[in-house]
Order: sequence, then structure tokens, then C-alpha cells
Amino acid sequence: MNLGISGKRALVCASSKGLGRGCAEALAEAGVNLVMNARGAEALEAAAADIRAKYGVEVETVAADITTAEGQAQVLEVAGQVDILINNAGGPPPGMWTDWDRDDFIAALDANMLAPIALIKALVPGMMDRGWGRVVNITSVSVKAPIPVLGLSNAARTGLTGYVAGTSRQVAGKGVTINNLLPGIHATDRAVALDSGVSQQQGISMDEAKAQRAATIPAGRYGTSEEFGQTCAFMCSQHAGFMVGQNVLLDGGATPSVM
Ligand code: NAP
Repeated sequence: MNLGISGKRALVCASSKGLGRGCAEALAEAGVNLVMNARGAEALEAAAADIRAKYGVEVETVAADITTAEGQAQVLEVAGQVDILINNAGGPPPGMWTDWDRDDFIAALDANMLAPIALIKALVPGMMDRGWGRVVNITSVSVKAPIPVLGLSNAARTGLTGYVAGTSRQVAGKGVTINNLLPGIHATDRAVALDSGVSQQQGISMDEAKAQRAATIPAGRYGTSEEFGQTCAFMCSQHAGFMVGQNVLLDGGATPSVM
């Protein structure tokens, strides 16, 4: 399918690995020029070189922490005017509800709620002026079905979801769509970290931990960054212009909800 976005420019945050990388790759495959970001410069440069070589698009990089005001300023300076914004960052650590104090909540809110909001506020006005834009926020299945050990994530991402629900309706009339893409379990470093937590807690091997988690998914497997990225690229395409304020769940059927 021709996504109709060849030649557009996208900022893809937290994209040297995992789901962000999957989104960057799929947008590049559709002919979109990229600004990629992550904290670690080495992996970021390697990912950018790979994508340039594979798809022949322009790729600029900014090694910065997207959860800080300084990092956002650095990224925005390089990004300039973009047509597409993919918001992403690492997820907060797991724990018990009694573990977290105010500073932990502020860090989670900065990373998974306030950083995406800051970038939306910085970049969407330009998209509205130009009459076209796409924003996709990578959130989590946890906004539909909370994951008990990820209380910080549940809280911060639900906050972003509420903000998007209202804001997306305020900007849609100017050709800008804002939607959320909700990963269930995907085979990335984050999943390895969560498998490792299960393995340690239950005294089982990593393979057993992975098999145990895969068994909770009707599709019988973890999702891939590639299929996640392709869905993201579709949500950024010309064809998705009527999709506004939606929460698109990619979880292999793991969440037993009707809608
Ligand atoms: P991942 O494989 O660990 O990749 C994270 C990427 O983000 C890396 O490129 C990392 O590079 C970058 N990054 C992390 N923190 C950053 C920061 N503060 N500033 C800039 N870049 C940053 O993670 P993932 O699995 O793709 O997960 C992406 C998001 O989806 C996370 O928020 C995660 O919680 C959420 N999620 C994932 C799953 C899953 O099963 N994978 C399920 C639900 C939700 P650097 O470390 O070099 O910065």
C-alpha cells in the first residue's frame, strides 16, 4: 500500500532500539525523512546508518534524554518543522504500590506524560498552520488493563491518554490527528527486562518466564517491532486522516475486552 507520506519529515523519539526503532524503520520504508533520538549515541548512530543505507532517506540524529527540558530543546532545535511526531521514552520501573514516593511519580510523569505533551505543544501548532500533521504516542496496554507491578506507568500513561482525548478533538479540524498506539508484550529489550524480573521472582529460567508470558497471549507469541512499526506508519499515513483520538491496542488478543 502506498501510504502517501513519501518526502514528509518525522521526529521519532527514543528510536535507536525496540518499538521506536520499528516505527522509524516503517516510516523510512514509506519514504519519510527522519530525526531520530535516543540517549546512547553509539546505538543511535548505528541505527541511523542502517536506515539510511536500507531506505535512502535523510536521517538526522540527536543523542539526548527526551524526558528532560534540555533534551527536548536539543531535539526540537534539530527537528525544526516536522509533519509527523512519534512520542516515546523508556518505561518506569516495576514495584509495589508502597515503593514509590513523590519523586518517583514526578520522574514517571516527566517521562511518559509531560515529555510527550511538551513536544505536542511545540510541534502541533506548526502542523496546524500547514494544514497537515500526525502524532502517535507510544503508550501501553496498561491504559486499558492496568499491570499491577507497573503502577507508575499505569498512572503516567493514563494521564497522557486523558490529555490526548481532549486535545485531539481540538486540533483535528486543522488536518492534524493525534492517536495512541498501545503495545502489549513485544520482543524488545524492555520485554527481556520484564522476563528477567519474572525469572528472578519465581526462580525459573528466562525461557520458562518467556513461555509463561507468551501463554497469556491468544496469538501465542510476543509481538515484533516490525509489525508495531508498520501499524504506526499506517496511523501516520494519508489513509488515517479520519482516525482521531483513538487508542489502538496491539496485544495479540491478551486483553479480554469487547471494545
Ligand atoms: P526498549 O527496547 O528498551 O527501547 C527503548 C528505546 O528508547 C531505546 O532506543 C532507548 O535508547 C530509548 N530511550 C529510553 N529512554 C530514553 C530517554 N529518556 N530519552 C531518549 N531515548 C530513550 O523499549 P521498548 O520495548 O521499545 O519500549 C518502548 C516503550 O513502550 C516504553 O515506554 C515501554 O515501557 C513501552 N512498552 C513496551 C512494551 C513491550 O513489551 N516492549 C509493552 C508495553 C509498553 P537509550 O537507552 O540509548 O536512550
